[in-house]
Amino acid sequence: MRPYPELNQSIGTLATSLRWTEFWGFRLLSVLSCLALDHDPAFTALAVIILAIGSVSTMRLFARVRRTENDLKTLWLCLAGIIGGGTVWSTHFVAMIAYESDLILGYDPALTLTSLVIAVVGVSAAFVVASSRKVSLLIETGGVIFGLSVAAMHYTGIAAMAVSGLIAWDLSYVIASVVLVMIFGALAMSRIARPVTRFCKYGASVSMIICVAALHYTAMTGMTIEPLIVDTADSGLISGQSLGVTIFAVMLLLLLVASLTYSIDMKNAEHSSRHVKHLSLQDPLTCVPNRRGAECILDEMLDMHVDDTSRIAVLAIDLDRFREVNNAYGQGVGDQLLKALAQRLVGSCGEGEHIGRIGGDHFIAIKKDVYSRHAASSFAARIAAVLDAPTVIGDVPLQLAASIGSATFPEDGTTSDKLMEHAALAAARAKSEGGGRIVGYEEGMDQRAREKSLLARDLACAQDKGELEVYYQLQNDTESREITGVEALLRWHHPVNGMVSPGVFIPIAEENGMITKLGDWVLETACAEAVGWAKPINVAVNVAAAQLEEQGFVERVRDVLAKTGLPPSRLELEITESGIIADMGAAVQVIRRLKLLGVKIAMDDYGTGYSSLSTLQSFPFDKIKIDREFVSGVDQSCQSAAIVQATIIMAESLDIPVLAEGVETEAQLNTLRALGCKQIQGFLFGKPMPMAKLKALLENEETTTAVAA
Ligand code: C2E
Ligand code: CA
Ligand code: CA
Repeated sequence: MRPYPELNQSIGTLATSLRWTEFWGFRLLSVLSCLALDHDPAFTALAVIILAIGSVSTMRLFARVRRTENDLKTLWLCLAGIIGGGTVWSTHFVAMIAYESDLILGYDPALTLTSLVIAVVGVSAAFVVASSRKVSLLIETGGVIFGLSVAAMHYTGIAAMAVSGLIAWDLSYVIASVVLVMIFGALAMSRIARPVTRFCKYGASVSMIICVAALHYTAMTGMTIEPLIVDTADSGLISGQSLGVTIFAVMLLLLLVASLTYSIDMKNAEHSSRHVKHLSLQDPLTCVPNRRGAECILDEMLDMHVDDTSRIAVLAIDLDRFREVNNAYGQGVGDQLLKALAQRLVGSCGEGEHIGRIGGDHFIAIKKDVYSRHAASSFAARIAAVLDAPTVIGDVPLQLAASIGSATFPEDGTTSDKLMEHAALAAARAKSEGGGRIVGYEEGMDQRAREKSLLARDLACAQDKGELEVYYQLQNDTESREITGVEALLRWHHPVNGMVSPGVFIPIAEENGMITKLGDWVLETACAEAVGWAKPINVAVNVAAAQLEEQGFVERVRDVLAKTGLPPSRLELEITESGIIADMGAAVQVIRRLKLLGVKIAMDDYGTGYSSLSTLQSFPFDKIKIDREFVSGVDQSCQSAAIVQATIIMAESLDIPVLAEGVETEAQLNTLRALGCKQIQGFLFGKPMPMAKLKALLENEETTTAVAA
């Protein structure tokens, strides 16, 4: 079947003259001549359009199938199978119609349909296999199945063709066509599943195009029709032209649907990725930017910063005593408080000002276009005032303060990391100075943070090196001025820095989990030393929250008393409110068991905690120690005197004795005595002293008393 025998012959002659006598060389030339000479250009163009668009769509859908892990995978697989099979099938039939031969009478509908089913089912099966594993030879196996489906569809499609003649095949072309489809099918799948560059997806589409085209033209070159007179009265055949136009229209529609589905999916993915990004930058509780979000805002500000005369202010905000609110009223109230504060902060912000929550009770405030130091400090003062204002959650009135650290671009840092870090260092300083204040970053703060970590390292081995010592501070009766007891206070003799204050190293020990070991040591040392004193006075030992929470603390106290021989009634354990508030129920149990040993329990630093009144009612304390803060102004400020008096009245009604801490003057002592306070502790009677000095003092007192008697 050669419609242009002369031309074909001349190509053959050309091939001979070019010595293309090798078998495959000649075959290739024959395939090319089949494409160029045996096919109608218009229908060939339609087939090429379908194949090109279809291949791109099919391979994208196949990639989508591989990306999908959920139950949508089956749906994407069906769509990919229909579009892939439909592309292969319609390309074949449109190309068949392009194949110009008068001997073709029409197409058998049943077989035509069968070839479509083969294409769709085969291609779907190929995708099932090729997408079953992330990386495996099953990918290429799927590709081979894809190629074989294309071949099966093609030869079934040829069988559907009614011709007035006999079809004969050149077996070598048939084999070549099957080998080619398997190779290019495998290549197409592997380009999607094993991409090496971003262009591989195009490589996959091109491979599919070559797979289908190579099969068609190789197979058609190997096919000849020997004309025969056939009875054409057999209607029921579909004419080539009408089949071609219908297929083309339906296929275009299918491709349109596929590409629409694909773009809806892409838009959805883009939309949800933007949504996820937005969520990942936002704090879910307060709906303000989280740490990353705040960093992004600051980075953007720094990028856009062009005005050299302006600055950017960064405030690190650390709420004071938030943990206590959480513990006293529950996490729900804590969360609501954070929400309310975040809203208030956001509400107070003007243009170019932003608020973020960077974790727990830590917020950040950022302000651009700051033209003077005054503008920066008034921004900080405004934020502090917002946080200082009382908040009512449910019916609980809450008033917090904040430790605020400020850092300014460019003086204190030029990157978001440095600015945030330096503001946080300044906030930590504000907190360590008692909270409720604004501290600006200073260059030495980095250095101090480093020093702190060096101290932590040294503290870890201070006990083993014998650098620790227990000092004692007297507790006296307000009327008789007699010594009633002492408080054991830890001292650290640092080999380089000299005496380090417990106000410095106790918080470090608490942060680093060393406090339980230190506390144990103080307990044992104080008990052991107290046994040998001339006067059997009480010894008070501070107990940190971590010690109280530790398993076996009660047993440890019992063992220390047994080991040292100190009568339990002489030991008083000082507990702060923050030490019991975390788990009230458990703390009550521990305190009850300690009291069963015969040990006394004192509430330390009374007045600085959050829910002092309710705590007093639920805990069986033996003493209340009013904090120094209220005692220092007792003789001058009516307010302090009123607080002290109210505490004493209330304690009396609960039958708990009160001790006033930090008494420095006779005037304070007189006022306290007049208010009904029974015991005092303070510099008036002595600063904390080493054991030897206390021992001598007690011996001296005993001798004086004995002589007087
Ligand atoms: P604290 O338990 O409230 O101890 C009383 C603190 O007030 C002591 O400070 C004491 O020297 C000081 N102080 C007493 N009277 C006066 C006064 O009249 N005026 C002034 N300005 N201060 C006075 P210190 O020894 O520096 O201890 C500070 C804090 O360190 C203690 O406060 C306590 O919380 C902690 N601490 C000390 N030793 C230990 C310990 O062995 N274990 C635990 N967990 N904490 C300890
Ligand atoms: Ca104490
Ligand atoms: Ca105290």
